[in-house]
Amino acid sequence: MKDAEIKVTVLGSGTSTGVPVIACPCEVCHSLSPYNKRTRASILVSDLRNGQNLVIDTAPDFRTQILRQNVQHLEYALYTHIHADHCHGLDDLRAFYFFNQKPVQCWIHPRHVEEFRTRFAYVFKETGYIGTKPQIILNEMTHPQFQIGNLDVETVDLPHGNVVTSAFRIGSFAYATDFKFFPDAIIKQWKNKVKFFIASGVGFKEHPTHSSVPETIRLFETLGVSKGIITHLSHSVDYERDQPKLPTQVEFAYDGMEFTLKI
Ligand SMILES: [Zn+2]
Ligand SMILES: [Zn+2]
Ligand SMILES: [Zn+2]
Repeated sequence: MKDAEIKVTVLGSGTSTGVPVIACPCEVCHSLSPYNKRTRASILVSDLRNGQNLVIDTAPDFRTQILRQNVQHLEYALYTHIHADHCHGLDDLRAFYFFNQKPVQCWIHPRHVEEFRTRFAYVFKETGYIGTKPQIILNEMTHPQFQIGNLDVETVDLPHGNVVTSAFRIGSFAYATDFKFFPDAIIKQWKNKVKFFIASGVGFKEHPTHSSVPETIRLFETLGVSKGIITHLSHSVDYERDQPKLPTQVEFAYDGMEFTLKI
């Protein structure tokens, strides 16, 4: 994977409800700023050497996100966990098959496979009705290190309430969403290896199953990250009001944010 170059696009930067939240009267939900319009959390990683695309999670807003970013083909989908806001866009993978005739290779941790197969049972069943189901190949991440095209991926387990989430590192880039904290062993494992890190924060207040914005900022410092992006944000965060509160090397994610990185 030497000298790999990737383009990372934030497809969605919102928490499970998205922002605006349906029926919410708050100021952020009624803000006109595009930075306060957040679809559900997901990213696109494009390998600039071979042109292959991978997404981390297929959010319920997947179709809107993919159309917005004009993505023409998709080779891989990696899943962090099975919460609805991270996988319920799965059905829209089928459009890629219409034009590319290649199934999308999906990767998920073995602990989530049974629930994934149950939730999307129709995908794995023979219904006799042609052309309506997403064409995917479900691969299990049985090893913490695996390859996606030319990219070396490392996955680690993070606590998220009673769920365990998979976070991913691709060279010096990492993506971790929906975790309460990083256990010491993972901090040791990733310390000084991750330079560019997109991690979830939700809001400034403490949360029972998620890292808060201040906790995620501390995590960036502990890991020695040079650029930290906080995603999975709720309507408690006003981009313009709250961005100045962050340290200079940290930014809030927004939908459509893009970076090209040598990893
Ligand atoms: Zn989530
Ligand atoms: Zn609101
Ligand atoms: Zn979750």
